[in-house]
Amino acid sequence: MTKGGIGRRGLLAGAGAALLSRPLNAGTLAPALAVVGGGIAGMTAARRLRALLPAARITVFEPLPAYHACYGANQVLGGWLDDARLRFRHDALARLGIGLVRETVARIDLDGARPRIGGRAFDHVVLAAGVAMAAPAYDGYDPAATPPYWTAGEGILPLRDRIDALPDDATVVMVVPGAPYRCPPAPYERATAIAARMQARGRRGRVVILDAKGSFPKQALFEDAWRRLYPGRVEWLPLDMIGRVTAIAGDAVITATDRFRFDLLHVIPPQTAARVALDSGLGDGTGWVPVTGPAFRHPRAARVSALGDGCIAGDMPKSAFSANAQARVAAATLAAEFLDLPAPAPDLFNTCYSRLAEAETVLVGGPFAFVDGRIKAHDGFISTPGESAEKRKAQTEEAVAWIDLFSAGIFGAGD
Ligand SMILES: Cc1cc2nc3c(=O)[nH]c(=O)nc-3n(C[C@H](O)[C@H](O)[C@H](O)COP(=O)(O)OP(=O)(O)OC[C@H]3O[C@@H](n4cnc5c(N)ncnc54)[C@H](O)[C@@H]3O)c2cc1C
Repeated sequence: MTKGGIGRRGLLAGAGAALLSRPLNAGTLAPALAVVGGGIAGMTAARRLRALLPAARITVFEPLPAYHACYGANQVLGGWLDDARLRFRHDALARLGIGLVRETVARIDLDGARPRIGGRAFDHVVLAAGVAMAAPAYDGYDPAATPPYWTAGEGILPLRDRIDALPDDATVVMVVPGAPYRCPPAPYERATAIAARMQARGRRGRVVILDAKGSFPKQALFEDAWRRLYPGRVEWLPLDMIGRVTAIAGDAVITATDRFRFDLLHVIPPQTAARVALDSGLGDGTGWVPVTGPAFRHPRAARVSALGDGCIAGDMPKSAFSANAQARVAAATLAAEFLDLPAPAPDLFNTCYSRLAEAETVLVGGPFAFVDGRIKAHDGFISTPGESAEKRKAQTEEAVAWIDLFSAGIFGAGD
């Protein structure tokens, strides 16, 4: 049995796939493994690999001194959650005998037989570096002046303070990108939180969403909440009504057909996989990293797996829940390969909560399966408008508990 892990027996118990024909890494019982990124996918992968391969030499590369989670950030903005619950350290790594290098990896060198990072060769590299904000094609947009608060480490408190400093009757204009991007419902949850914050402080004011899409996730649920809870405060304008955003000029956003004045601009830019992924030549031309099979292996780099928001994982949304599920499956699959065991059956699942008010939360989710090599959603569930207040309250309690339990499993002491 492995230290705190499921070991050979556990792996075999979960075996659902055929025995691999002598896999790439078979028999390497003390592999050198690198994990690029100490966020959700990276921390999960490192910890699962440690549990399943006790002799492995595992190194996590992560530049941030602490992880400030994005999930829950909108709830902080709404005044419903304490920001302290979203800040985590990487101390668990040392306790688990996992190396931590506080560095931004510039490039994974794929030229030799084994991938190298800064001259060090590894048997396998797990790329889990999240997303980067692409420079959007809006003239006059300055991300330093209006940061998106969309990546680990930024936190949400500066945006909260800006909203609180707005004059009465202010207009917040949000510019929202086309898919794919990190956490598909999060821009609409953010608009909800801003409206709730203004309302709770007795301020007039509204949020105008300029969307590069024609529809959005949980749309009926958000629109119902905006009508019911924050009437007149949130206006969503789809692409076919306003055309593309072309420029930011002074205090206005210019679109193909119109001009929208703002007191506060909040741009969520289009996104790509993190720079290290693209600079290492692992992108597919769309800005994201392709993967194949339950090891989430790169199709052109057999010793690299890509996990989390940077990869293209079929129907799976770019969410923390998904990143964690992918990392668990990939780690178990890779461990089985190293141990020369049958691959365990992949078990992929996502749940995504959106907070609408102090005691209202809605959710969407469901399982995923590999079908003809592609990750497909099946048997999903979604909240419905008109659910009882008791149900929405219970879902809120569940969502808050999820944040604490989920985070503890990733950054906490135990395994
Ligand atoms: C407002 C908002 C709300 C959200 N709400 C939810 C929610 O309710 N539920 C949910 O499931 N998800 C939610 N998400 C999504 C969730 O935060 C992401 O899907 C999740 O963080 C993805 O994990 P990851 O490991 O891919 O990336 P991250 O967690 O971002 O981790 C990537 C890590 O890699 C590091 N890194 C980057 N480049 C390098 C490099 N070159 N070298 C070394 N390290 C590097 C970064 O510093 C970071 O720590 C939300 C996101 C936002 C923005």
